[in-house]
Amino acid sequence: MNYDIVIIGSGITGASIARELSKYKLRIAVIDKASELPAGASRANSSMIHGGFDDKPGTMKSKFCVKGNRLWHKLKDILDVHLDECGSYVCAFNDEEVKHLEKLLEQGKANGCEGLEIISGDRLREKEPNVSPDIVAALWSPEAGIINNFEAVNAMIESAKINGAELFLETQAAGLLLDDKGNIRGVSTTKGDFTAPIVINAGGVHSGEIASWAGDKSFRIIPTKGEYYLLDRTTQGFIHSFLFACPSKAGKGITVLQTAEGNLMSGPTASEQEDPEDRSTTPEGLAEVLKGARRLVPKFPVNMNITTFAGVRANTESGDFEISALKSPRGFINAAGIKSPGFTSAPAIAEYIAELIKSELADRITLSPNEKFIPERRNIPRFLYMDMAERKALAEKDPSYAQIVCRCETVTEGQVLEAIRRGARTITAVKMMTRAGTGRCQGGFCCPRVAEILSRELGIPLDEITRHGGESKLLAGKTKEPLLNRKGAVSE
Ligand SMILES: Cc1cc2nc3c(=O)[nH]c(=O)nc-3n(C[C@H](O)[C@H](O)[C@H](O)COP(=O)(O)OP(=O)(O)OC[C@H]3O[C@@H](n4cnc5c(N)ncnc54)[C@H](O)[C@@H]3O)c2cc1C
Repeated sequence: MNYDIVIIGSGITGASIARELSKYKLRIAVIDKASELPAGASRANSSMIHGGFDDKPGTMKSKFCVKGNRLWHKLKDILDVHLDECGSYVCAFNDEEVKHLEKLLEQGKANGCEGLEIISGDRLREKEPNVSPDIVAALWSPEAGIINNFEAVNAMIESAKINGAELFLETQAAGLLLDDKGNIRGVSTTKGDFTAPIVINAGGVHSGEIASWAGDKSFRIIPTKGEYYLLDRTTQGFIHSFLFACPSKAGKGITVLQTAEGNLMSGPTASEQEDPEDRSTTPEGLAEVLKGARRLVPKFPVNMNITTFAGVRANTESGDFEISALKSPRGFINAAGIKSPGFTSAPAIAEYIAELIKSELADRITLSPNEKFIPERRNIPRFLYMDMAERKALAEKDPSYAQIVCRCETVTEGQVLEAIRRGARTITAVKMMTRAGTGRCQGGFCCPRVAEILSRELGIPLDEITRHGGESKLLAGKTKEPLLNRKGAVSE
C-alpha cells in the first residue's frame, strides 16, 4: 500500500484535505478507525457555519473561519450539500452585554465579516417571535448558516474518491514508520502498513496522541463534551435561525437553532473530561441545556424531544488550531486541535495544508495539477423534499423509490440502495447518508428494514449486520432456536 499522502482521520478536516489534495496528481489514502462517516466531532456538533466574529483577529481560527464560511457558500452547490443560509443572532440581556456585542461587531469587521449589525430586541422579535421578551439587542450576522453535517462530510470524501483518493474504514493508525534518516516513511495500522513520504494528522480528539508519536508534545488535547437536545421536525419554524447567548469565559454558551433539516435543537454544554470517547449525556448536562434554551426561548418545547446526544471537542490550551509541518520528522503535518469553528474552517484549512506542502515539503513531494479534477458531486436524491411530480417521475424510472423504508424522514428503498452503492456497510452508515432513522421513532420502524436490505444486497447473513461495525450486531439469535449464553450453555 504505497501512497504519496496518508491522512489519518476522515472527519470534516481529513475529508476536506483529501478533496483539496485530489486537485493534484497524488495517490492519497484516507484511513479512519470508524465504520462510517462522520464519526467524531464532525458527527455531533451544532453544524453552524459561523459568521467569523467570535475569534481574536490574527488567530488561525479567525482567518480560517471567515475564509471557510465563504468557501462553504460556494461548495454547497458544487457538492450538493444542504446549507440553510439563515444567519445568526447573538442576544444581549443587559447594557453590559450590549457593550460586548459592540466588541464582537468590531472584532468581526477586523476579521473581514460583512453585513454585521446590532439590532434592537424588538426588531429581533419581529423576525423570531418566540425569543425572550428580556432580550434588549442582538448582533445579526447574515453570513452565518447551518449545514447538514452528515451530508457535508460524506460529500467531501465522495468528491475526493471521485478524483482518485482511497478511503479505508475500520483501519486504525497505530504508529508512524520512519526511514533511516528519521523522516516519515508511512503509518502502521490495524490493516497493515501504508507507506508515504507525507502523513497528515487529522485525528480530532486523538490528534494530540498521534502528534506525540512524532515526538511533538507542544500541545495537549483537552476533550470537552457538549450535550444537546434534538426535537422533532414538527417544531420547524419555532425559530428560523441560530441564536447565541452572549459569550462568556466558558465559551459560546447554550444556543438554540433550527437544523438544516428543520429540527429545533439546543446545546452544547462544555465540560472537560479525561475520556475522549465518552459521548454519554447526563441529567446535569441536559438540565443546563434546558435552562440555557429557556433563557433564549422561554417556551422551548422540550416535550417534542426525540433524542439527546453529545459531541467531544478537541480543545487545546492555546485555544487555537494546531496546524504545522514538523521540522522533524520531516513529512509529518498536524491538522490537530480542530475545535469550533472547525467545521466552518475545514475547507480553508485544507487549502492552507496544500500551500504548506508546496512551501515547506517540496523536497518530499511535487504538487502538479490534476487536469482531470471533477469539482461536482451529487447527493443521493432527497425524496422528502421532492414534490409529487418529481417523486412520481423518480419512482417510474426506478420502482425502488416507490418503497418507503423510513416513515419519519420519508426515505425510500432507492435511497438506501444508493447509499450501499456508495459504500454504506452498516445501519449507521445508511443513516448518515440517507437520514433513515433520524426521525421521531429513531429507527424503531426502519432499522430492521435497513438491516434486511443490507443483508440482501451485501450477501451477508442478517445476524451479521451491525449498527456501527465491530460487535455491534443487531440480532442476538433466533427466537425458535435455543439462545446460548456467553459460556456456551443453553440460556433459561
Ligand atoms: C459540541 C460541539 C459543537 C460544535 N459546534 C460547531 C459549530 O457549530 N460550527 C463549527 O464550525 N464547528 C463546531 N464544532 C467543531 C467541529 O465539529 C470540529 O472542529 C470538527 O468537526 C473537527 O473535525 P475533525 O475532522 O478535525 O475531527 P473529527 O470529526 O473528530 O474526526 C477525526 C477522525 O479521526 C478518526 N481517528 C482518530 N484517531 C484515529 C486513529 N488512530 N486511526 C484512524 N482514525 C482515527 C476518528 O474516527 C474520526 O473520524 C463543534 C464541536 C463540538 C464537539
